[in-house]
Amino acid sequence: MALKPRVSAAEARANMAEIEPRYAPQEALIEAERCLYCFDAPCIMACPTGIDVPGFIQKIATGNLTGAGRVILEANPLGASCARVCPTAALCEGACVMLDRDQKPIKIGRLQRYATDHVIDNKIPLLRAAVKKSGKRVAVIGSGPAGLGCAAELARLGHAVTVFEKKDKPGGLNTYGIAYYKLTPAVSLQEVQLIRDLGVEFRCGTEVGKDVTVKQLEKDYDAIFLGVGLGRTYRLGIPGEDLPEVVDALAFIEELHVKPLHRVPVGRRVAVIGCGNTAIDAVTQAKRLGAEHAVVIYRRGEGDMPAYPYEYELAKGDACAFMFHAAPVAVEAQSGHVTGLTLARTEVNAKGRVAVVPGSEFSEPFDMVIKALGQEPQAAMLAKLFPKVKIAKNGTIVRKDNGQTGLAHVFAGGDAANGGAEVVNAVAEGKKAARGIHQYFGGAETQGPLQATRYGVKGQPIGSGFDHPVRVPELEAEYFAKLKQA
Ligand SMILES: Cc1cc2nc3c(=O)[nH]c(=O)nc-3n(C[C@H](O)[C@H](O)[C@H](O)COP(=O)(O)OP(=O)(O)OC[C@H]3O[C@@H](n4cnc5c(N)ncnc54)[C@H](O)[C@@H]3O)c2cc1C
Ligand code: SF4
Repeated sequence: MALKPRVSAAEARANMAEIEPRYAPQEALIEAERCLYCFDAPCIMACPTGIDVPGFIQKIATGNLTGAGRVILEANPLGASCARVCPTAALCEGACVMLDRDQKPIKIGRLQRYATDHVIDNKIPLLRAAVKKSGKRVAVIGSGPAGLGCAAELARLGHAVTVFEKKDKPGGLNTYGIAYYKLTPAVSLQEVQLIRDLGVEFRCGTEVGKDVTVKQLEKDYDAIFLGVGLGRTYRLGIPGEDLPEVVDALAFIEELHVKPLHRVPVGRRVAVIGCGNTAIDAVTQAKRLGAEHAVVIYRRGEGDMPAYPYEYELAKGDACAFMFHAAPVAVEAQSGHVTGLTLARTEVNAKGRVAVVPGSEFSEPFDMVIKALGQEPQAAMLAKLFPKVKIAKNGTIVRKDNGQTGLAHVFAGGDAANGGAEVVNAVAEGKKAARGIHQYFGGAETQGPLQATRYGVKGQPIGSGFDHPVRVPELEAEYFAKLKQA
């Protein structure tokens, strides 16, 4: 049966409403006043963009919302979207000292959102382009978080920037891919406007390699930043994969970012293959758009799933089901439409590899299958456009810490270089590459946000998460190693 929209406009609006709405002023004040304003704040180290978290929270507590916004946006020009999408439990909030006191961590993400909303709603021009221009021009390929982070920092350093984006709208996955109930395209586009206001030029609907050649860019610009992200979803490689109701998770999620939500077709019984964060986004959004039964199918066990625990809880709260230790063998169809999946039980062998248990096949009825097996790197496209830029075996772009590739004038960052991480990592890498480009142009070495930080982390007494990012599992490992030594 062909897929069809299943909810009214009102239901779609209610079901896809923000899961973490903006704080009321009193709520924000109470939360800000819980902060201990640690001198050696671990949250700063755990934020890849090194935002001075206690600094902006203190400003919220004293009613200086514009100042709070400045602290955030100067470290992270995408502070508004990061406030909504960062996996804070693994980053800043996971490092909060409140946890050591068996108390809830400070809600850093929600406070960050409160301050950045104030700046955006009131159109306060906090970020300023440098008055003195360098005369240098940089082409940024891709307008996702990496490209935007790079463009904003370059403009602030006095360089002229043009962003080339193949899609109609800028923002990358922030505009087209993040779960709707976390971040709407409208917020992403408002944030892009902050960067446009710095004088950055955007050429959307322009694919590098098709609409403009690399040779032309090299002629017109002094440096190039590659922030092209990842490619399409990996294939399942099973019979029936090309039936019309077998869809790529990214294509499904993109559809609900470009169409009115109540016009997005979904199945009645939806199977999502894979168990990462994208799978969770796909299954929860299918359910919220009217699927009666939506199930994640994963070939390993519950403890192995790559999705964050809070994402798993969210999906269970949405009444999504999980089928572990099962893998699809074939898509079943009648008259050219999906009717179900043939599945097989799996087991993990001594080497940790997954194998199908012979003779364990069984059938389950579904009318839609969403593939969420992770995204392929864009290695082939990159090798064609930049044959001299080295690509690692896993398809990522090889670059130095400042983003510089083997070609001195070409820099890279974001998913295309790190293989796929978070929005905040892409912003930080874009910003680092901008500083690398600035140095390549002969500019003075720029300083990262110098903030008080935890002694001992990576042996650095100063700096911030921007210079030496550390995730919560690393902090914990270091803490337990010290305990063992003591
Ligand atoms: C479904 C999904 C949900 C996610 N949810 C979260 C989340 O909740 N929180 C979080 O922190 N992270 C999340 N992420 C990860 C996050 O979105 C990425 O890490 C981040 O967007 C990477 O930024 P980027 O700029 O490197 O790439 P992208 O955002 O992919 O941007 C790359 C841009 O380059 C453009 N481009 C590519 N090739 C060309 C070309 N030749 N010419 C011109 N333009 C080109 C693309 O069109 C795209 O706009 C999610 C990812 C996915 C897939
Ligand atoms: S990790 Fe994200 S939410 Fe936390 S301080 Fe950094 S940008 Fe803000």
